[in-house]
Amino acid sequence: MPTLTNTADMEYDAQANTGANEESLRMVSAAPIGNEPVSDEELRPHALDGFIGQPLLKAQLQLFLDAARKRDVPPDHILLAGPPGLGKTTLAMIVANELNVPIRVTSGPAIQHAGDLASILSSLDSGEVLFIDEIHRLPRAAEELLYIAMEDFRVDVMVGKGPGATSIPLTLPRFTVIGATTREGMLPSPLRARFGFTAHLDFYPHEELEKLIERSAGVLGVHLGEESAHEMAVRSRGTPRIANRLLRRVRDWAIVHDLSSVEPADVKAALELYQIDAEGLDRLDIAVLNAVVKQFNGGPVGLNTLSAMVGEESETVETVCEPYLVREGFLIRTPKGRVATEKAWAHLGLVPKDDVSKLF
Ligand code: ADP
Repeated sequence: MPTLTNTADMEYDAQANTGANEESLRMVSAAPIGNEPVSDEELRPHALDGFIGQPLLKAQLQLFLDAARKRDVPPDHILLAGPPGLGKTTLAMIVANELNVPIRVTSGPAIQHAGDLASILSSLDSGEVLFIDEIHRLPRAAEELLYIAMEDFRVDVMVGKGPGATSIPLTLPRFTVIGATTREGMLPSPLRARFGFTAHLDFYPHEELEKLIERSAGVLGVHLGEESAHEMAVRSRGTPRIANRLLRRVRDWAIVHDLSSVEPADVKAALELYQIDAEGLDRLDIAVLNAVVKQFNGGPVGLNTLSAMVGEESETVETVCEPYLVREGFLIRTPKGRVATEKAWAHLGLVPKDDVSKLF
């Protein structure tokens, strides 16, 4: 049976693929296809008002945008930092929308050479937003080119090759870079210093996710009974992308079972099928906890060893699994490695042999 993991990272890829498929199907069809009436894009709010939660960040951003509008200049560059699936891309699109300017989307890994970035920069229109996802993964030479472009609105374009190559300075129109990163610490400080506003997105509390699920259910045409949004929210790991994804799977369940309204028992049954437990932990989280508890007697265990044990990239374990496990009190990061808490042992139905607190 195919398994569904609700890690935000995997969802990122999965949604990217689904999005592409849906999009290509749409290209050849004027009518909605099957039971997939809306794409992920349509779940994205387009204005700051529709962006749910993160009230402080929204107030800061609103002020920042209002000031830019009043001054009639493109706003300073913006850095959005936080774990995957919390709304960084959505916010970047909202900023462009609110300013009524076009947005160009790229990402650190997509830019392999400084020249790739130079050609994007030199084709930007005045006021345009350049969104660079995973900006911490830009190659070093591109990063250096970006500092200068962000500060002086200038880029040096290399013409020719070898000893005859010359660099031609090109003045750029004013534009706004919005960088998104899941690893703010990996950004070199000169690059970080070029951003006039840095927003840290945090995991969403259950009440905010409930509102988000209710909103998305409205868009998807799913009728939710009382408490059903809550049952999904508590399993969404504080992450909107996961909340939307769980909702889609619950929607599938409702369609297959001909339900006119989704009740909490339906949510539980649908999500159990996908191995998402009552705390929102999925197969990968449980594998991580099992490795620390069973193979290392509660830890400490280093990140690389742990990642190898569960067969995942250490970046995925560190940026996707761990923040939630740490935040929910299942895991503690110590200088010697990761340690499982009593809550983790209890969640696995086990009792630690030794006093767990001595490991911290
Ligand atoms: P990130 O770029 O941080 O990985 P995204 O912006 O792609 O995350 O958000 C993932 C999905 O979650 C989007 O499809 C969007 O619909 C939804 N989403 C994220 N944050 C919010 C929010 N605050 N309000 C409503 N929907 C949101």
